[in-house]
Parts: sequence; structure tokens; C-alpha cells
Amino acid sequence: MVRSTPAIFAALTALFVATRADAYCRSTVCKDIDACDGEEVPGCPPLYWPGNCVGYSVQQDGGSGLDADTVDLIADLAFDQWRGADCGGEKPGLFIQNFGQVQCHAVEYNNDATDAANANIVLFSDDWPHSEATHTFALTTTTYDPVTGELLNADIELNARDHHFTVNDDAIEADLLSVLTHETGHFLGLAHSEDTDATMFPFYEEGTTELRTLTADDMEGICAIYPPDPSIDASCNPLPRHGFSPLCRDDQNEGRCTISAPASRSTREALPFALVAAALAMRARSRFKRR
Ligand SMILES: [Zn+2]
Repeated sequence: MVRSTPAIFAALTALFVATRADAYCRSTVCKDIDACDGEEVPGCPPLYWPGNCVGYSVQQDGGSGLDADTVDLIADLAFDQWRGADCGGEKPGLFIQNFGQVQCHAVEYNNDATDAANANIVLFSDDWPHSEATHTFALTTTTYDPVTGELLNADIELNARDHHFTVNDDAIEADLLSVLTHETGHFLGLAHSEDTDATMFPFYEEGTTELRTLTADDMEGICAIYPPDPSIDASCNPLPRHGFSPLCRDDQNEGRCTISAPASRSTREALPFALVAAALAMRARSRFKRR
């Protein structure tokens, strides 16, 4: 999903729903091309975390009136939805670790050339720099290997400039768990679903909490990316490429506050190729009726 204007985006989505069967979709290395309902797109491998293993961190300042510990809890619950999905009686073969809160407040991926470590960060943006998508709750930006589809980095930005996020069950505004459950789906490799009931359907209506929980379509999607694998916890390595750091690139000092990745880790390198995995498009409430 590229950063389209909300109007165009809504029109395209409506067309999509009308002409295609409802189904989950996976993001691929090809811009604007998703792999839906288990189908392969020749030349466009789908995105996934290598080793079925990934870590994430919440930015330590929190935002939208919420402290970081609260955001941390909600982020955990969002990822829990995906790791707890029902894959025919088993869970997805997916290990997700919370690395703890980070100082870095930036969407960035540090490749080999910078010799800096990384973190996959959930952060609030008070100035929402995405001028072409002002009516957007959140944006997940992923970096991946354009040949294999291996995800290298993912950061989730929450739009605290235009929305007030809440975590309670009353006086709900932009429900953080709903938005984060959708965004963590992108983080893990899912694209927008054509199923209007799915959490990965690209619309959220403020004041609702339906997206907090997954539908069968969402579960089918996550199970397709990460088929059940009972051995995954013991064998995987969730460290980011080039190690983990709570600091942004410019603040990192070699030998301090970093953990190196094991030497056995794949050294395959790729040109960083940033993709806006998806924008959770926001439309005026009057224009949206969730079914
Ligand atoms: Zn989305």
C-alpha cells in the first residue's frame, strides 16, 4: 500500500471489494501488488520475518496522553492477538519478543554502511510528517530484502496530531488496541484484506473496538505466513539486523548500549527498500459505515 490520498484510496478499495472475493492478503516486494488468499504472484515474493522471529519496542515517551508503560501493555496485547491465532488447533509458528522501551523516536533502518544497530519501534507522532495522508490513524513502514521478501525492519507511527488515542472501554476515541492490532498485522507481513469484517480491512471508525480481535480471515493470513512450528521458541533469534539498540543511529556509540547479532546470522545484504506497508485510512465518520 502506498501513501495514497484518502479519497483515492477509498475509491480503489471499494472497487477491490466489488470485484474480488473476500480474502486476506500478504504484502509482497512488489509495490502495490499483494498476494491474496494463498495465491503466489510470480516475481513478487511475499514479506515475512526471517526465522519466523522478531522483536519490537515501544518509544519511552508514550504519547497522546498515555505513558509508555500503558502503550507497552497495549502493544503486547496487539501482538498477542496474532501469536495466539488459531491455526487449526495450533498457534502460528511465530516468536515475538518485546525488547523493552527505547529512546529513539524515529523511523529508520540502519544498513551495513552505517554500522549501527536497529529497533522496530512503536511511536507516537505529534507533528505527523505525512502530509499526503493527513487523515490517517497510523502508518507502518517496513524495510525488506527486495529479492527474498525477508523483513529487515518495521516501525509503527501513531498519528497523535490528528487523533486522541484511548485505551479504556468507555469514552472511546481512537482505540489504541484496535489500531495497533491492525498495524501489527502489517508489521508481521499482512496487507489489507478484502474481507469487510477483518481487522486487516483498511478502515477504522473512531469509538469502536471491533478491530481488537481477529476474524477467521485474519487468522488464516497469519497462519499462512507463519505455519505452526512447535520448535520456534527454542530455535529463533529475534534480534534486529546489525543488533539491537535503544538509540537512534546518530546517538549510538560503538560498544555501548548495543548488542551484536550472532555471527551465524545471515549476512545476506540488500539495498534498503522502504515500503509504506499500509496506511490505515481514515475517512470522515459520515462516509464510513462498517458492516
Ligand atoms: Zn492498514
